[in-house]
Amino acid sequence: RIIMGIESSCDETGVGLVRLHDDGTVELLADEVASSVEQHARFGGVVPEVASRAHLEAMVPTTERAFATAGLSLSDVDAIAVTAGPGLAGALLVGVSAAKAYATALDVPLYGVNHLAGHIAVDTLQHGPLPTPCLALLVSGGHTQLLRVDDIASEITELGSTVDDAAGEAYDKVARVLGLPYPGGPPIDKAAKNGDPAAIAFPRGMTGPRDAKNDFSFSGLKTSVARWVEGAGRRGEEIPVDDVAASFQEAVADVLTMKAVRAAKELGIGTIVISGGVAANSRLSSLAAERCAAAGIELRVPRPRLCTDNGAMIAALGAHVVAAKRPTAPLDFSADPALPVSVVSL
Ligand code: ATP
Ligand code: MG
Ligand code: FE
Repeated sequence: RIIMGIESSCDETGVGLVRLHDDGTVELLADEVASSVEQHARFGGVVPEVASRAHLEAMVPTTERAFATAGLSLSDVDAIAVTAGPGLAGALLVGVSAAKAYATALDVPLYGVNHLAGHIAVDTLQHGPLPTPCLALLVSGGHTQLLRVDDIASEITELGSTVDDAAGEAYDKVARVLGLPYPGGPPIDKAAKNGDPAAIAFPRGMTGPRDAKNDFSFSGLKTSVARWVEGAGRRGEEIPVDDVAASFQEAVADVLTMKAVRAAKELGIGTIVISGGVAANSRLSSLAAERCAAAGIELRVPRPRLCTDNGAMIAALGAHVVAAKRPTAPLDFSADPALPVSVVSL
């Protein structure tokens, strides 16, 4: 069966096509993304109205490219999945409306699925079926969560989350302080390669004895980096951008991997999946690999292209939802900007 996935929760218009095989494996056929990120760059963050308009313009051409790449036509589609939330209301609405139109025209079942669950499900396109239970560390521009996954199609439980900034948000804000472009993850990752991760001892948030052990905090770290850079500037010193980037990145990777591995050990879970845009970070995956190996835990990290927003992740989740025979979405459903991760599909 061919499943089409449509993503429009933030600033990427994504259309993915996958094939669900009878044995439950899901094969990637096409993954086309149009991003409006350059239009937001000068604002240092996504401008919702600009994103919605860009989705509107990109939806049909991106869909056409996906079918061309896969060598399929619309009539080959057996089911459609669309991101129902969480995300920007206006942006989500464009994808949901397009999905309803395609589903009605093609007379195929429609599923409204969770963007965050999609970030996890995408890993099955690269590494095959997810062993369950598994622990998911979801690190993206808007979310930082530790999740227990018992069934990717229906059962995801939140163990903890950030109490302030998301990890990706911290990357974007620190990049701004360092004069690096938006989004900040890639340039910080690159600068950090030439820096010393032990140059500056930045704080590890939420690691005190009284702190909730599965929660995260990155706002103190961000402020601490800003203070450090201000201080150096006031003293007329040149900012060692590479060292600041490396030290900041080390603090983020240290806390994320420490907490994920500890939670997996305590719950007796043998597999950790890291996903979301920040999972593309080179230090996060290398430190996670080191620590998982030491703890005897299997680590799965999708390739960077699959970690950031795309339509393939929604198609992949849709395929698992179809395989699990979950109910389709009511035709009058609407997007839910605050959809909790526990609601995998509507
Ligand atoms: P959400 O999924 O929470 O709705 P989002 O969809 O905007 O948010 P993603 O597209 O999954 O988020 O991830 C974008 C974030 O990933 C940005 O904050 C970006 O800086 C960060 N990012 C991308 N590449 C890297 C990298 N190599 N290292 C660190 N962060 C990165
Ligand atoms: Mg994005
Ligand atoms: Fe995302």
